[in-house]
Amino acid sequence: MEEIKDFLKKREDGGLLRTLKPSSSRGNGRITIDSKEYFDFCSNDYLGISNHEYLKEAAAKAISRFGTGSSASRLLSGDYSLHHSLEEKVAAFKNKEAALVFNSGYQANIGILSALFAEKDAIFADKLSHASILDGIILSGAKLIRFKHNDTEHLESLLKKKRKNFKNCLIVTETVFSMDGDEAPLKKLVALKEKYNCSLMVDEAHATGIFGKNGSGIAERDGLSDKIEFIMGTFSKALGSFGAYLASSKETIDYLVNTCRSFVYSTALPPAIIAANIAALEIIEKEPQRRQKLLDQVDFFHKGLKEKNIKALGSTQIVPIVVGDNFKALDYAKTLQCKGWWMLAVRPPTVPVGQSRLRFSLSAAHDKETLTKLINDIVSLGI
Ligand SMILES: *Cc1c(COP(=O)(O)O)cnc(C)c1O
Repeated sequence: MEEIKDFLKKREDGGLLRTLKPSSSRGNGRITIDSKEYFDFCSNDYLGISNHEYLKEAAAKAISRFGTGSSASRLLSGDYSLHHSLEEKVAAFKNKEAALVFNSGYQANIGILSALFAEKDAIFADKLSHASILDGIILSGAKLIRFKHNDTEHLESLLKKKRKNFKNCLIVTETVFSMDGDEAPLKKLVALKEKYNCSLMVDEAHATGIFGKNGSGIAERDGLSDKIEFIMGTFSKALGSFGAYLASSKETIDYLVNTCRSFVYSTALPPAIIAANIAALEIIEKEPQRRQKLLDQVDFFHKGLKEKNIKALGSTQIVPIVVGDNFKALDYAKTLQCKGWWMLAVRPPTVPVGQSRLRFSLSAAHDKETLTKLINDIVSLGI
């Protein structure tokens, strides 16, 4: 097709073409690509547990006992007692009545939103919400109303004007934003959803395993779990495994088991993954020092950059430095790669036009000595 050729050429000319880069090994904060080993600052393995012996053993044991595939969807033969053990653990971890496991965060968001909301409803979404949230809203048929990023005044003005025109209304946000590394103003969002009779959904993909005394996320840290109707998150980031979940009321979960298309019409996650997810939750409970080490490094890295007058966004383990121009961002990324840092330029459409950035994901698998070297190499880019 002519369109495909044109599209690829346009992307290449604009410094926007994306290509895959296979690695031959990764884990423990490192990655090997084309036989060269780098420090990995692109992964979401924030606690460095994707190679943890305990997770690997749990997965291996499950494979030897149950085999590799789950054989069917949960509603047919694919429903193992392991899935239920995991769901009970998630519900307790998230301080909610019940939980449902999904095959990925993407499938969770598109499935949950499209099952729970429809044409007469409206969904107020933070402008920087993950693509899976936006896709879920589109699929639901509900009216999509976007509010300026983390701007509760803007949200309130929209609620004031538009809430009355719709039946059920939802406010949805990420708690830690994947491309800006900042946190949602959760307390204010809770106040607004109560004032305007809406429900609230949070995506804790980048917060689960890291924030809160028990590592459950920002909702736990801020003591708001029981005020938030829908708490979604993934096992694929800090938890070092795969899959996702929704923690909510028992009634909501029962409803989704009956209606959520991405749940009903997809083969269940295999036992090995479920067992690894359970093991990951146990590690979060047993090894709080991992998240403490990560948060300590987050503080160290942000302070270190600030001291050198490098402006970074956010306040979390996701540390973006906005460069602006696509080619400049690619150039800086290349220079850092040559020095042994695996990091990539994040460009549109993942981020708004003119806001291409270097995005560093910190990990408990790194240490301060490494971060100090990285800061010096960032300084020498002369951004
Ligand atoms: C990664 C991510 C998802 C998707 O999760 P997967 O398990 O990778 O499909 C959803 N929401 C947010 C905010 C994410 O960062």
